Amino acid sequence: MSKLALLGGSPVRTRPFPDYVTIGDEEKQAVMEVLDSAALSSFLGTWSPQFYGGTRVQALERAWEAHFGVKHAVSVNSATSGLYAAVGAAGVGPGDEVIVSPYTMSASATAAVVYGGVPVFADIDPETFCISPATIAPRITPRTRAIIVVDIFGHPADMAGIMTLARQHNLVVIEDTAQAPGATLNGRWAGTLGHMGVYSLNYHKTIHCGEGGVIVTDDDRLAERLQLIRNHGEVVVKDKGVTDIINLVGFNYRMTEIEAAIALEQLKKLDGLVARRRAVADRMRAGLSGLPALCPPVVKPGVEHGWYVFAMRFNASVAGISRARFVEALRAEGVPLAVGYVEPIYLEPMYQQRIALGRDGFPFTLADPGVSYARGLCPVTERMHFEEVVCTSICHADTTDADVDDFVAAVRKVLENAADLK
Ligand SMILES: *Cc1c(COP(=O)(O)O)cnc(C)c1O
Repeated sequence: MSKLALLGGSPVRTRPFPDYVTIGDEEKQAVMEVLDSAALSSFLGTWSPQFYGGTRVQALERAWEAHFGVKHAVSVNSATSGLYAAVGAAGVGPGDEVIVSPYTMSASATAAVVYGGVPVFADIDPETFCISPATIAPRITPRTRAIIVVDIFGHPADMAGIMTLARQHNLVVIEDTAQAPGATLNGRWAGTLGHMGVYSLNYHKTIHCGEGGVIVTDDDRLAERLQLIRNHGEVVVKDKGVTDIINLVGFNYRMTEIEAAIALEQLKKLDGLVARRRAVADRMRAGLSGLPALCPPVVKPGVEHGWYVFAMRFNASVAGISRARFVEALRAEGVPLAVGYVEPIYLEPMYQQRIALGRDGFPFTLADPGVSYARGLCPVTERMHFEEVVCTSICHADTTDADVDDFVAAVRKVLENAADLK
């Protein structure tokens, strides 16, 4: 039994791990009602009652506001659109610096670029994998306008400290909480801790409607700007009587009634789905505790984690095998595990070649000479990604205790027999 599957032994696990399925009869019925109504979207890009969308879109927004205790929820067709709208609403313009995490989905940083902003990457904290007041502070310059903080993997960033810093420097804080719906920090929902928070409803997230997103804010002015950017603002401002028209170039970021109807049902399930994730993750953490070569996720005091991704740190010198070999051996045991997460964003061609909009390299042509995208810029991020992080998405609501126990058994088997792999 202790012979590793990679070396011809029998694997711990032969069945696949369960898929995460949250769509049920409630969603099916809600969609059928929309189809029967024949009004699949009721938005109009004019200053009219339809400017705010149809009944399901508005019902979703009111339900989102009630659930998260916020003044305004603005639905959009993706969290990417939501991040773009939030950066626009924040007033970011050409040459403004936007501080962002390099260890996230690319859109968190691209959102700055589309408004001519210059992403400035702050390093991550090695325990939470989020940017922190300590890593953000040295990146603040007179050009800094906004911070995009990512609650990566479902762990809320140190938002209290970041908001204090933002107040001192008059910065707008956008919380990218695509991965952390239902997580809390000191009893407050992730996503509601900055000036604007952006949730994702894409297929891979904790709750979904295919594609979609929701932005929340307590600020009336920001909410109005978000609604204008979502829906052809430039032709609405005159009739609506909006005089500050900076960045109110509009898009079509509108959600359809079908997606809103699904999202309404999904929102009702959110707390239960996150609670189950938490139970699965707790069992994983208990099972994987006390292993010198593998550090399970850290949960900071006051945090209820959202467990989108279960990210651990692997210590190759303690284990006696490389990270790649460890992951290969676990996969052979039938366990899903990834090497690293996403490449630090600044290593992507857009930053390395400084080419984004047009031929000349805008907006990087406007960047202060001190803005760097060189390898080594964020050493903790690079060490985490290229050397230490391994992660899995099995901590979800359809995972059973037996599934977790197989995962744990496979990890322990590989580590105990690591010497055989040398
Ligand atoms: C998924 C994700 C996004 C983008 O969400 P979409 O709804 O797919 O546009 C943004 N940021 C992070 C951290 C994400 O995980």
